[in-house]
Amino acid sequence: MTGVPAGYRGAAAVTAALAELAGQGARVAPAGRTVRGADVVAVEVGPADAPATAILAGLHPIEWIGVEVALALLARLVAAPPRDRRIVALPWINVDGYVDVEADLIAGRRRWRRGNLGADGRGVDLNRNFPVDFRVGRRLPTGWNYGGPAPLSEPETAAVAARLRGAGVDRAVSLHSFGNKILTPWGGRWRRPERHAALTAAAHAVAARMPEPYDVVQSSRWVPGAFGHGMELDWLHGELGALALLVECTGGGARGATPRALLSPFTWFNPPAPAARADAIARSRARSSRSCAARAGSGVARAVGRPRAAGPGPAARVGILRRLRHPRGDESAGVGGGVSGDAVSCSYEPAAELAGGGPPHARVTRAGVTSHPP
Ligand SMILES: [Zn+2]
Repeated sequence: MTGVPAGYRGAAAVTAALAELAGQGARVAPAGRTVRGADVVAVEVGPADAPATAILAGLHPIEWIGVEVALALLARLVAAPPRDRRIVALPWINVDGYVDVEADLIAGRRRWRRGNLGADGRGVDLNRNFPVDFRVGRRLPTGWNYGGPAPLSEPETAAVAARLRGAGVDRAVSLHSFGNKILTPWGGRWRRPERHAALTAAAHAVAARMPEPYDVVQSSRWVPGAFGHGMELDWLHGELGALALLVECTGGGARGATPRALLSPFTWFNPPAPAARADAIARSRARSSRSCAARAGSGVARAVGRPRAAGPGPAARVGILRRLRHPRGDESAGVGGGVSGDAVSCSYEPAAELAGGGPPHARVTRAGVTSHPP
């Protein structure tokens, strides 16, 4: 089996998708360059003076489904821009690695790539190169877990930091694969962050709107003893102060794969039919019929919104919902804007939830497939 698996976009198609977002009104501009000199593109949607949600994807080059989810989210957010929140997305960070993975696929090479090319010629795991709890680490095969010579030594991570520092980011999500997990800070420390309750609540709120079960866990406690030092997650929270989550999108592609396909690392990290999977994450409805019924019965069925941010108290349980005006004049969910046009029903957009966060309606407890350290 050679070639890019059906439904996935190679580098040229991702570039075209970014150009299309610009044509639809998103503010698209380079935030920096990769080791090879490719643009690391930032996409901005929403009012320039609003508080910002950061969306990151593609730090790890083989996790293509994360890039697909970011592009699906952006397509929906551009179609119905939020009125009171700005989205600053870097949806395709490790461009060089992505290009090399594409070349592997075309050539039929079964290779797991983890790092970038390395500013000093040694591949760096970009999700170990951020300046919170940074450690140089040991260089392992594929660049896994090697933090690089110094924090932000790599042009790709430097581009992310340059774009997001001072940008008013108070919420953030980074998209990886795989494992059906939503990870909270810290990755580099065992102890809980001060805002652990708020982070966990935000993670459960997103999990409740996923099209399949997602497990919520603090990153460092996913695999006890396996710390991730210098992760984007810890930097987004520890330096920027953002309510930050890392989503391990989908359960990968191993289930149902042919033995031959299983030999390809790309298959481990990326499910089949990516467009449908990414779109499901970007738009799917709340899976919990109970929370749907609670909201429908609350007397404010048109306000398919979030409970107050005061935590899971009685107010949240009886479904007193914060009403938010929809760009089209009706009322919908979350500051990302409900884009289904179905505000009366129990539709709820993970895109809106990712953009707006909020406390939980439902808990997801079934563990997903354990995979690799984030
Ligand atoms: Zn990853």
